[in-house]
Amino acid sequence: MNVFSAAISFAPGLALGSFLNVVAARLPLKRSIVRPRSACMHCEKEIEWYDNLPLVSYALLRGRCRHCSAHIPLVYPAVELVTALLVAGCVLAFGPTVEAAIAAFFCCVLVAVSAIDAQHRIIPNRIVLPATAVVLVANTLRTLSPQWAIAALAASGFLFVAALAYPAGMGMGDVKLALLMGAALGRSVPVALMLGMFAAVVPGIYLIAKHGNAGRKMGVPFGPFLALGSVVALFWGGSILHAYLSTFH
Ligand SMILES: [Zn+2]
Repeated sequence: MNVFSAAISFAPGLALGSFLNVVAARLPLKRSIVRPRSACMHCEKEIEWYDNLPLVSYALLRGRCRHCSAHIPLVYPAVELVTALLVAGCVLAFGPTVEAAIAAFFCCVLVAVSAIDAQHRIIPNRIVLPATAVVLVANTLRTLSPQWAIAALAASGFLFVAALAYPAGMGMGDVKLALLMGAALGRSVPVALMLGMFAAVVPGIYLIAKHGNAGRKMGVPFGPFLALGSVVALFWGGSILHAYLSTFH
């Protein structure tokens, strides 16, 4: 049953991914996400609907604009595919439920935030703060438990202290993203924070190895790693936490 629902949710997931591309491209530039229609970044010609189908158009056009043959950045189909897989994954893991809807919404926000942070090194308040409010209210109503609010405050408090101790690595955007992570993940949020920090160490070490001391100052946008940790914690946080805690018994 869940497999069937998940397969059906893949197509709307692709459409959502397409929308997230628009959000990620326009929101940091403070442009409307509704109008005008999408245009080629290079020749500025409007993209017709049949050239704007998620994944399909990229494949048919072989990754180039129909008019000027400029390369379409690979990040566009990647965002569409990742979003669709995450949405379908939420339905597969949680069934066609409110929990799945909240989880899918959380995943969409993570994709948009990662795309923006990777390109612009910012995590926009205009996405993270309203999303946190929505997820916190929805999860609290769903379970009637204070764990979501507590996890949100604890996770952002933890990253706030980390940002004070290591200002080059983290910003206040990451602290606010942790609010959202706590509201969405509840008691699994430590798993997301730990995995995110471990994952971010890998490119950090690579930069230091490649550029020496200068690499230490380059820093890596932290948002995508927190997002990666969040996705793992969303699907497997309960079992990871359980495995971790049971090693002490
Ligand atoms: Zn073009």
